[in-house]
Amino acid sequence: MKIGFIGLGNMGGPMAANLARAGHAVTGFDLTAPMPEGVSRAATAAEAAQDAEVVITMLPNGAILRAVAAEVIPAMTAGAVLCDCSTVDVDSARAVAEMAVAAGLGALDAPVSGGVGGATNGTLTFMAGGTEAAFARVAPLFEIMGQKAVHCGDSGVGQAAKICNNMILGVTMIATCEAFALADKLGLDRQKMFDVVSTSSGYSWTMNAYCPAPGVGPTSPADNGYKPGFAAELMLKDLDLSQQAAVSADADTPMGQLAAELYRRFVTEESGRGMDFSAMLPRFAARGRG
Ligand code: NAD
Repeated sequence: MKIGFIGLGNMGGPMAANLARAGHAVTGFDLTAPMPEGVSRAATAAEAAQDAEVVITMLPNGAILRAVAAEVIPAMTAGAVLCDCSTVDVDSARAVAEMAVAAGLGALDAPVSGGVGGATNGTLTFMAGGTEAAFARVAPLFEIMGQKAVHCGDSGVGQAAKICNNMILGVTMIATCEAFALADKLGLDRQKMFDVVSTSSGYSWTMNAYCPAPGVGPTSPADNGYKPGFAAELMLKDLDLSQQAAVSADADTPMGQLAAELYRRFVTEESGRGMDFSAMLPRFAARGRG
């Protein structure tokens, strides 16, 4: 398949490389990032999109996505599919899909979970919004870049799935960390706390699979000095998107709102930037109620 790939950073680079390695003809464009092996360089985003059957974008945010989409949509061939894999706000995802469909193209919002490791190893999970036909067209590429692709419904709901999942993740991580910090102060050993909670009704992915306490549970960023992993500032980005969507849809999300406030403070005032999002545990452990 002829594929245009725009945005070849930490995630897009290895995703494009996997498509090229699988034998697809990939033409890439990025403002700064180097071309991955096997990907030919285009001079502009529009050039990367010309003649492509599928154009994939992996960009930092919704404003950049809108700008890139305005440039590539007129250059694309009728019937081709524009597939955005970035994490962006639901409104931008829907606006870009509308623009693409009006131009006779297919459109998908297909954000991912799995991080840079998943992008490199081809084990991402894709959650897609758009028509059945557009999803079917891109599904073979999802199979190369990932291990699972779920067609969630119409345009925008792929992003909805992503931000709802990550809102649960952020809230749950904070709950797990504050409970460990409370356990410390009550004289409950962290390993014993894990032994009980991981097999009781307080269990969760953050406790059982990504435990924020060093030396407890399976290996996680906590065992590596809280180097990410999933950086606190990326969690903040996703929590902010969930709150933007909640305001836009008039949804009451008090826990998500508080999680966003705590991660904002952590990243902007408390040296959390560049740390894994589980570094909330040392933050809570070092504090009192004041
Ligand atoms: P990144 O900053 O490494 O890559 C983004 C790339 O886009 C950069 O190389 C940048 O030069 C390029 N770019 C910016 N504006 C451009 C333009 N106008 N034209 C062409 N290229 C342009 O970011 P990333 O970590 O690869 O993340 C990409 C997206 O994936 C984000 O939306 C992020 O939220 C999402 N995501 C990231 C992770 C992760 O763990 N890093 C996990 C899941 C989802």
